Amino acid sequence: MFAKKTIRDVELNGARALVRVDFNVPLEDGVVADDTRIRAALPTIRYLFEHGASVVLCSHLGRPKDGPDPKFSLAPVAKHLEALLGRPVDFVGALVGPQAEAAATGLRPGEALLLENTRFEPGETKNDPALAAALARLGTLYVNDAFGSAHRAHASTEGVARHLPAVAGFLMEKELTYLGKVMEAAEHPFVAILGGAKTSDKIGVVESLLRRADALLVGGGMGNTFLAARGVPMGDSLVEVEALDRARSLLDSAAAQLHLPLDVVVADAFRADASRRTVDLGEVPAGWRAMDIGPKTIAQFGEDLRSARLVVWNGPMGVFEMAPFAEGTYAVARALAESRATTIVGGGDSASAVARAGLADRMTHVSTGGGATLEFLEGKELPGVAALLDR
Ligand code: ADP
Ligand code: MG
Repeated sequence: MFAKKTIRDVELNGARALVRVDFNVPLEDGVVADDTRIRAALPTIRYLFEHGASVVLCSHLGRPKDGPDPKFSLAPVAKHLEALLGRPVDFVGALVGPQAEAAATGLRPGEALLLENTRFEPGETKNDPALAAALARLGTLYVNDAFGSAHRAHASTEGVARHLPAVAGFLMEKELTYLGKVMEAAEHPFVAILGGAKTSDKIGVVESLLRRADALLVGGGMGNTFLAARGVPMGDSLVEVEALDRARSLLDSAAAQLHLPLDVVVADAFRADASRRTVDLGEVPAGWRAMDIGPKTIAQFGEDLRSARLVVWNGPMGVFEMAPFAEGTYAVARALAESRATTIVGGGDSASAVARAGLADRMTHVSTGGGATLEFLEGKELPGVAALLDR
């Protein structure tokens, strides 16, 4: 059940919508190098136009350190957005102030402008109330479509929502609907898959998913850490020592739910051209490291996924960036692609692995959030979501 109001629930005719988007895109030589995030905001922008609103867009881009820095200007994004929308998009070289206010109030229905990088203002990350109030003067309605920034209480994601009617855009709605299914454990069997490198960052997610999922499959660096916690010698594998205690206590309380690797592909160096072999548990040679899950594990995980109705996946099963160690990750991606389950993928590296496998459009939902997705799956309230009007 979607608990927040969206742009479908409010009067848009004649409204001036201040829309927080995620246009944090890579730039190369002043040109947008990957416009996935810009395209993702188009349905919301077009809907606002079609319903008689004008649109004032704002976003952060990168992490500028000390105020304005041309390297992080959103000007190239305005150009790119113009081409995608097929209509002019004014760029205002400021976030707030007289110039921004004049440009915003001058918009007619169906017109759009893009403001300068929110993080050029020191008040943004401090959630400065004065900056939030100044932003609020630019719209009659606030729309948050930047799920990936919703875990941060910044002026443009949280503070401003206190001053205007605040609703979700379509991208935000989609994220919360699918990730909400995970948190409600909406369908069973519900299988969660976790991997990747940041085990201590994700241990809260493990705990949260263990309360909801029927089975939790663990691979990648996280799998190494759980195996080590079980006493399996892991050689020089990536094992997070700080996470061992919590991993041990989860193994004690939820052993049956936790499915660990049965075999691993090991290498004698962290290199694509390293010597490699597949070994069973207990056979990782000293000085070698687990780089991927092995074929027995792939078969077992495939079996575990076969009957699933709901699957959430975060974290690659191995060092997929190196072709010899990508098979476990790609096999899981294929299993999800072929599954009839609702399949939800979160995490920057997991999303890029699915894209590399050419299977992104075979997933029900690939989340655009990194930290926000993890915090949501951990069960934390996201400030940028909490600030929106309840339905
Ligand atoms: P996500 O971005 O999807 O949340 P993470 O950032 O936690 O995922 O982890 C992704 C990284 O984990 C990848 O760069 C991958 O190479 C690395 N990784 C996965 N398995 C291993 C392993 N066995 N040893 C070392 N690194 C690993
Ligand atoms: Mg990552």
